[in-house]
Amino acid sequence: MSCTAVEVIKKLFLMGVMATINQEIDFDTAALVAAEFGVDAEELPPEVDPTLIPEIEYNPAEMKSRPPVVTVMGHVDHGKTSLLDVIRKTHVTAQEAGGITQHIGAYQVSINNKKIVFLDTPGHEAFTAMRARGAQVTDIAVLVVAADDGVMPQTIEAINHAKSAGVPIVVAINKIDKPGANVDRVIQELLNHELVPEKYGGQTIMVEVSAKKQINIDLLLENILILADMEELKANPNSAARGVIIEAQLDKGRGPVATVLVQNGTLRIGDSIVAGTTHGKVRAMINDRGDMVKKAGPSVPVEVLGLNDVPAAGDILAALDEKLAKSIAEHRLDKQRTQLIRSKKVSLDDLFQRIQEGSIKDLNIVIKADVQGSIEALSGALLALNKNDEVRVNIVHSGVGAVNESDIMLASAANALIIAFNVRPDNNARRLADAENIDIRIYRVIYDAIGDVKAAMSGMLAPKYKEVVQGKVEIRKVMKFSKALVAGSYVLEGKIFNNSKIRILRDNIEIFDGAIDSLRRFKDEVKEVAAGYECGISIVDFRDFREGDIIEAYKMEEIETSIADANREAEARHAAEEKKS
Ligand code: GDP
Repeated sequence: MSCTAVEVIKKLFLMGVMATINQEIDFDTAALVAAEFGVDAEELPPEVDPTLIPEIEYNPAEMKSRPPVVTVMGHVDHGKTSLLDVIRKTHVTAQEAGGITQHIGAYQVSINNKKIVFLDTPGHEAFTAMRARGAQVTDIAVLVVAADDGVMPQTIEAINHAKSAGVPIVVAINKIDKPGANVDRVIQELLNHELVPEKYGGQTIMVEVSAKKQINIDLLLENILILADMEELKANPNSAARGVIIEAQLDKGRGPVATVLVQNGTLRIGDSIVAGTTHGKVRAMINDRGDMVKKAGPSVPVEVLGLNDVPAAGDILAALDEKLAKSIAEHRLDKQRTQLIRSKKVSLDDLFQRIQEGSIKDLNIVIKADVQGSIEALSGALLALNKNDEVRVNIVHSGVGAVNESDIMLASAANALIIAFNVRPDNNARRLADAENIDIRIYRVIYDAIGDVKAAMSGMLAPKYKEVVQGKVEIRKVMKFSKALVAGSYVLEGKIFNNSKIRILRDNIEIFDGAIDSLRRFKDEVKEVAAGYECGISIVDFRDFREGDIIEAYKMEEIETSIADANREAEARHAAEEKKS
């Protein structure tokens, strides 16, 4: 409209609308203001976001009850895994094909001819991670509290996570077989967190159980069903499938394999699907008992084959028209790519890392300054930093005057950062720099500018590392497979990652230092295994391990030299120089 924001705001004010510069105004107001400036405004149709999955309107008459989906949460060692294990062992319907569950991230159990789905990753981390991606999977949280230990920090965390997600809690007071068990104390402690059992006039279902002695497991399941009934969980099995990716990985033989929990509708072989940035056609489905199935309705977990890539846990899956599924996935990929490119503009702050990744060999700089003399001094000093081959400083442009839009466009095209010496970007340039993610550094002292660049560069040239121990693992059994020797292990503390460096200790003496070849839970390759879990580890070029050896997992972490430190150094140097002269 060729007028300033202030003029528009003034006009709005006269019309009785108190708006700030960042405020949205409705179309009618905008049209009125535009008219005041002699401009015709026309309303565009609302934009359809090509990355969004179209919503389905469900007909209430077609909704049918569906089984509840349960996550087991609670403090470490209170018996989450034991509880899941005993439920799986005792309640997978025996007459169905051997009754052995596959590990696919979730499984269905039957009790009194009704079904409950358990997510097989105990703990609230997975729960929160999924929520962070916008997926709410859990209908009911089972909070496990050990009767001999009571409410602990992670118990409270779990309560808070469930509450903030609006998920109702069933409390399983576990380990009641133990001599030190004190159920009343646990209840007292839970009262402090607003979990009040029925006998005290509250509404929280609390069941005293023992996972180890299999006491009251049925009672717990029955109570989960009672709560589920009250929640009136429903879905329409006749509509197109909507679900959530519980976990996914690349299988050497089968390609991308995703465990999907169907939340609504029915997923069928041959359906075209989209999940996150991936798409494809359902080629095969395998249920939690390892059977091939043709369809999966609401609250059924299945492994799905046929996606073109590995989606992320928490991604929403939808069955759609083939072209639409593909186009949504591709638009999302595009969006991701542009965001990546935008965020990949060079800046002094991440220069270290970028060089390390090998994604930067040239440090391109645009210099704007108040006088020609400063430009010469600055570029001379910056180019003098070019003593090594790993990174080269290039001055792609320099000039006298404020940083303007064309400087920003140039910096964007050349992936350069801008050094502004005694000048500032004008308003348009600043806005454009924000949009293009250009790092503009403003200096008044030449030494500061040079100090920053040097610090960023030298940091990357001589990165300093420190060792960080991630976890401790005990080898409990040495197992021989056709090709490999696997250390059947138990994670004592922390975590072990498939990219951890490892050190093997025997009687506290280091006997080997190297890397992991593969890290598995049951048959599956995994990225990490946390304390309290068993895993199988094979090690690159080392077979001489024994039962009782300790594996220490660690990583090397970069120690960052901060720009602030470098600045202080530059200032000190500057002060010293000034004194001299
Ligand atoms: P998680 O960290 O919450 O998954 O806990 P685990 O299921 O790994 O259990 C921790 C320890 O408590 C294990 O040694 C179990 O054998 C033990 N445990 C679990 N449930 C019971 C129980 O009901 N009674 C007794 N006595 N021990 C139990």
